[in-house]
Amino acid sequence: MARILFLNGGLEGHVNPTLEVVRELIRRGEEVVYLTTEPMRQRVEETGADVRTFDGARFSEVMRSGDIRHFVGVATGLLRTADVIIPRVLEETQGEPFDYVIHDTMLGCGRIVAQLLHLPAIASCTTFARSALDVERMLKDLSATLSYDEYERLIQDFHAVRDSVSQRYAVTVDSVYEAYCNPEPLALVYTSQYFQPDGEHCDDGFQFVGPTRKVPTTQTVELWETLSSPLIYISLGTVFNQAPDFYRLCFEALGDSPYQVLLSVGVKTVVEDLGMIPKNFLVRNYVPQLEVLGQAQLFITHGGMNSVNEGLLQGVPLVVLPQGADQFAVGDRIADMGAGVRLDYRRLPPTEFRGQVDRIMNNSAMRGVCREIGKSLQRAGGAARAVEEVFKFKTKMGIR
Ligand code: UDP
Repeated sequence: MARILFLNGGLEGHVNPTLEVVRELIRRGEEVVYLTTEPMRQRVEETGADVRTFDGARFSEVMRSGDIRHFVGVATGLLRTADVIIPRVLEETQGEPFDYVIHDTMLGCGRIVAQLLHLPAIASCTTFARSALDVERMLKDLSATLSYDEYERLIQDFHAVRDSVSQRYAVTVDSVYEAYCNPEPLALVYTSQYFQPDGEHCDDGFQFVGPTRKVPTTQTVELWETLSSPLIYISLGTVFNQAPDFYRLCFEALGDSPYQVLLSVGVKTVVEDLGMIPKNFLVRNYVPQLEVLGQAQLFITHGGMNSVNEGLLQGVPLVVLPQGADQFAVGDRIADMGAGVRLDYRRLPPTEFRGQVDRIMNNSAMRGVCREIGKSLQRAGGAARAVEEVFKFKTKMGIR
């Protein structure tokens, strides 16, 4: 039995995929101390982990204090969060022995923490895998789109924060890649190699374990009685979901259509503020998405990696309207593979939106592609496979 320090941020999309992994690790005899934010406490505690928390609001504030319009600024912001995370980790773990660390690839500067504690580490990757070469390409693209001064400012900011963090904590951060992707010798990637762009060229350090959440077999939803077929499910996830204009566009495009539409608007949107809701719409702040997708014929999504995996797992075609972060890359991949379309909702007349939806609803070939990807996600093995990989890593590292 080993003791694991699990580090994550407080975002549902980053925490949810780890829950079954933690449950399985504990079932196999590992002890897990999980550092996250207070709102995530209950769901993580239910796995059996010992939950400790840090200040999520402060984390976001520090992370967003620089220019986060570009990924280099995000990398700099992530480095800045070292001052929120590290003192908390040191305080929480003082005198406690740990054998290894598992940390999110983005949130919580896990690579630095592992260095500081002199522990081997595994990365938990809730988006597509990225190599150093991918990030070099992204840097090149960014330098081509920004003015020389803008690009230099971003890089200099990064260097200044990197130097101060490296000195303060006596750690090494060699590149933007290290700060942005927190690479480790093993990364658990919660999608399939088939769905990963250029998956066949990824090295063995990336293990594609697929989605880990189990598709429920029972329907516990009170909504069920009111849902009918054909059902379209719409959600912009849990972060980028304050989008009343988009929700009104959906009303305009899909109100008065032969479809039943279930719209999840997120806990911060006041449903009454959205105006008249068409009769064929049900609007909720949050729904049990995995269960709903089991009934849906189409998923209109922002392209969050978990949502996309959850739709594909159940063979549901996707209309992806990226809002930020990795969602553009996810939308491109969906379109490239023929599993759906990527649209820009800021330039989407309602009639065009409706036309796209009608075409996809009648496209059985697209449904076939989704089912194929879904099978690859299922075959990837989920939480059990993730834990197998963790145990192989332990053996390699000589951890008992
Ligand atoms: N989710 C849910 N019900 C909702 C909206 C979202 O269960 O009404 C879950 C969804 O199943 C997914 C997660 O929240 O697991 C969202 O993660 P994703 O990576 O798709 O997007 P993010 O919220 O990180 O932008």
